[in-house]
Amino acid sequence: MTTTKNIGHWAGGEAFAGTSERTADVTNPATGEVTGRLALASRADADAVIAAAAAAAPAWGRTSLAARTQVMFAFRELLNSRKGELAALITAEHGKVLSDAMGEIARGQEVVEFACGISHLLKGGHSEGVSTGVDVHSKRDPLGVVGIISPFNFPAMVPMWFFPVAIAAGNTVVLKPSEKDPSAAVWLAELWKEAGLPDGVFNVLQGDKEAVDALLESPEVQSISFVGSTPIAEYVYETASRHGKRVQALGGAKNHMVVLPDADLDLAADSAVNAGYGSAGERCMAISVLVAVGSVADELVARIADRTRTLVIGDGGARDEDGGEVDMGPLVTKAHRDKVASFIDSGEHQGAKVVVDGRDVQARGAADGFWLGPTLFDHVTPDMDVYTEEIFGPVLSVVRVETYEEAVALVNANQYGNGTAVFTNDGGAARRFEADVHVGMIGVNVPVPVPVAYYSFGGWKRSLFGDTHAHGAEGVHFFTRGKVVTTRWVDPANRPQGGLELGFPRNV
Ligand code: NAD
Repeated sequence: MTTTKNIGHWAGGEAFAGTSERTADVTNPATGEVTGRLALASRADADAVIAAAAAAAPAWGRTSLAARTQVMFAFRELLNSRKGELAALITAEHGKVLSDAMGEIARGQEVVEFACGISHLLKGGHSEGVSTGVDVHSKRDPLGVVGIISPFNFPAMVPMWFFPVAIAAGNTVVLKPSEKDPSAAVWLAELWKEAGLPDGVFNVLQGDKEAVDALLESPEVQSISFVGSTPIAEYVYETASRHGKRVQALGGAKNHMVVLPDADLDLAADSAVNAGYGSAGERCMAISVLVAVGSVADELVARIADRTRTLVIGDGGARDEDGGEVDMGPLVTKAHRDKVASFIDSGEHQGAKVVVDGRDVQARGAADGFWLGPTLFDHVTPDMDVYTEEIFGPVLSVVRVETYEEAVALVNANQYGNGTAVFTNDGGAARRFEADVHVGMIGVNVPVPVPVAYYSFGGWKRSLFGDTHAHGAEGVHFFTRGKVVTTRWVDPANRPQGGLELGFPRNV
């Protein structure tokens, strides 16, 4: 019998239970058991967490770069040495296999490492003698309190796209994690405390729409970084903008992998399986549409189907007698599992060919786990629901086209523009693809082209509302405000200076 733990907020450097009586169940997707009771914030709870962040903001913003950098390095070391604990928490609430959870932490850690270089990243410009006796320098100040609202699919990495840069730049943070896997956020808060971060700089607000709305409307909160589904991203962007905040709201995706006739088919088939079914397809950079160009389709579908049939589905935290793990875990909730299964029903009814059927899955795990196996559709057409909707599950749809031009037109007609990939051995074709597609992140023989931390992550079209991507130079820019200072110091040898002049100041 599993014990049910209480999961609350974190404010001012300590656990905070809040006063709201509303709660939500947190489940282990591999067993179906309720493992946690999550506090859902009331407006008063949210205000208390935001107030803790606001109280800490002035002192943290004035803390020296050297002191802030030391905390960043301490956090990096602690995270690196204890990441196994965090991965286990993620697997127990999200369901992804442990190695995948370790992978998301590693990618989040890259952003922490990037933010360790904040002194360099915040260097301003200086121009001497722009006018007689006048110099100019630029600087970037922190915003104050920043809000981060994250989705269920990366409970550690997505918050880490934002908070390392935000904190290093001198802001204080309120993180609102997903209700489905909220424990990682509290674990990270405890780690920050251990790393020496002053109380109130990193806070966690647990909850649902009520907590989100409190962040979007609070006059204390200066910016919102949101990641989640497109309808909510659009709502967050509009509401927070209306309340005068800076917003970056990353939304859903439908990522196409285009395979040209000259591609390495084994590489393409491996990549399609890895990117289509890794993390049970619950990744915003998952490949969900494979566009097979010209003669490539029959052989490619056969190779993908062969590989897909070998995948082992089961409890992402379990090990077999050789210490190995399964390939793919369960879906995050029963409701989501059923929704994805209904898409498979719909694809079949609308005439797509089911090559591998995940509804027949034989999972290694408890009967009540939220299991759904990898599913491969062939002969999908752009009018079918499996093509138009973001499924966010282990369902890969093959669309057959005759030409490169048709493939690019398909990618560009899609409402989303998060990621895409082209598989080819023709450098010229790849170069042309890179120029032709209206998508933010592009892979050439790389199926999941998530940029490294010192570049920026983000899509185009309805995959991103706002104009600033996450981390990299754009992240530093988002979490700071620019100032330009123009200074006159009178040279003691040239006194007196000045005199009356009411015309607009000119530089001479
Ligand atoms: P979601 O939109 O349901 O939830 C995201 C966040 O919004 C959560 O914290 C949730 O509590 C909150 N929320 C949910 N409904 C709300 C409402 N009505 N009002 C205010 N806040 C609300 O998304 P999810 O199911 O947790 O995550 C999956 C989605 O996230 C997918 O669409 C996926 O593509 C997207 N995603 C995008 C990226 C990206 O980089 N573009 C990355 C990861 C996930």
